[in-house]
Amino acid sequence: LSPMASEKEAALAAVPSDSPTIFDKIINKEIPSKVVYEDDKVLAFRDISPQAPTHILIIPKVKDGLTGLSKAEERHFEILGRLLYTAKLVAKQEGLDDGFRVVINDGPNGCQSVYHLHIHLIGGRQMNWPPG
Ligand code: C5P
Repeated sequence: LSPMASEKEAALAAVPSDSPTIFDKIINKEIPSKVVYEDDKVLAFRDISPQAPTHILIIPKVKDGLTGLSKAEERHFEILGRLLYTAKLVAKQEGLDDGFRVVINDGPNGCQSVYHLHIHLIGGRQMNWPPG
């Protein structure tokens, strides 16, 4: 896929699967990323293609079948809560005191391009509604 491809093109080209993704390489530090928060269960790092002054991805370190939110099961309750709570912690850490947005893209219609659940934390400017 060309690096010039738009996020939408990348999403429509992405094949939903439970295979390892680029995020496993980021978790394992095989490729560099700008980590802003890390604990035993969760990693948060700056999106390589930021859509706002702050754009951070928050992911579970172990995917456990969570290719996307649509695959969530009851066994994921704890990690789902941790991910959302981490979004709040990182928003505070980033000084997003005037507000922010969290987004989970799911599947082709949701413009998901990486099949490892991730929460986008976006802030530092005025958001618009509805989203595109
Ligand atoms: O929600 P979606 O699947 O489209 O988001 C994937 C995100 O992962 C994109 O915002 C993209 O910029 C980001 N990404 C990244 N580092 C990579 C590959 C993708 O931050 N190496």
